[in-house]
Amino acid sequence: MGVKMSKKITQIAIYGKGGIGKSTTTSNITAALSEQGYKVMQFGCDPKSDSTNTLRDGKYIPTVLDTLREKSSVKAHDVIFQGFNGIYCVEAGGPAPGVGCAGRGIITAVELFKQQKVFEELDLDYVIYDVLGDVVCGGFAVPIREGIAEHVFTVSSADFMSIYASNNLFKGIHKYSNSGGALLGGVIANSINAPYAREIIDDFAHKTNTQIMEYVPRSVTVTQSELQGKTTIEAAPNTKQAEVYRSLANKIANHTESKVPSPLEISELREWAAKWGDYLLALETSTIKPELAANL
Ligand code: ADP
Ligand code: MG
Repeated sequence: MGVKMSKKITQIAIYGKGGIGKSTTTSNITAALSEQGYKVMQFGCDPKSDSTNTLRDGKYIPTVLDTLREKSSVKAHDVIFQGFNGIYCVEAGGPAPGVGCAGRGIITAVELFKQQKVFEELDLDYVIYDVLGDVVCGGFAVPIREGIAEHVFTVSSADFMSIYASNNLFKGIHKYSNSGGALLGGVIANSINAPYAREIIDDFAHKTNTQIMEYVPRSVTVTQSELQGKTTIEAAPNTKQAEVYRSLANKIANHTESKVPSPLEISELREWAAKWGDYLLALETSTIKPELAANL
């Protein structure tokens, strides 16, 4: 009587290059999980602070760092706002450009929530961190390094810059894997429409010993939803794109086995990309036949 069983809170981090679709994908995942009745928090860890906009009709929320600059004492509830289907939204925020560490907001917010036992109090099922992966300074590694997140996913297209950022993330995960760091769940392949995009991202996942969670096509439905300040799950729930996000959300929610990836050395990565580049060019200029892709 009066004793509340504490349930398991699954914490997930989603990394990727800036502009690759992390926030769009993360918001659609949290929206899909909320549809199933899960209690979810989306935790934006990008100094851009726009992770949770599409859960709140395009509106911005005050960030943890901004709030800390204004008030001497901050209560966790000053920086937690509800959005679509009651999803809890948080933005860590960033320092003034050129000053301080952008990871500061993540560290500060995580500490604040821990002290005030916020996750338990809100009775959350999932906390999903949306983390900028271009920079690999200590601050950005916080959700991995401190073992905060249990599973890490990366959003990547088939473009080299995006694959490069994912490979760097794999290096970070690899480094902290012996000291209780988070492990890799897999790759969320985003904007996979161009010819050979699927083959390229599949090949990268294979070479680094990981898996593709879902292939998310580039779709105007996403753009249209965003223009309304909404996720696709909210604005266009009966579309194919919404189904892709639901399928992805289910896989992530039920994911259990994460692994240590095998990142490529930078020289290996460059050689690998150059080989694909040569192949695509040869295809475009019709000097080789598509069957030769098998020999790559
Ligand atoms: P990030 O959070 O990684 O910086 P965003 O999620 O903000 O990136 O996405 C950048 C832009 O790309 C947004 O305008 C978003 O609508 C668009 N975008 C992302 N994924 C898709 C997709 N699958 N189809 C169409 N547009 C997309
Ligand atoms: Mg973002």
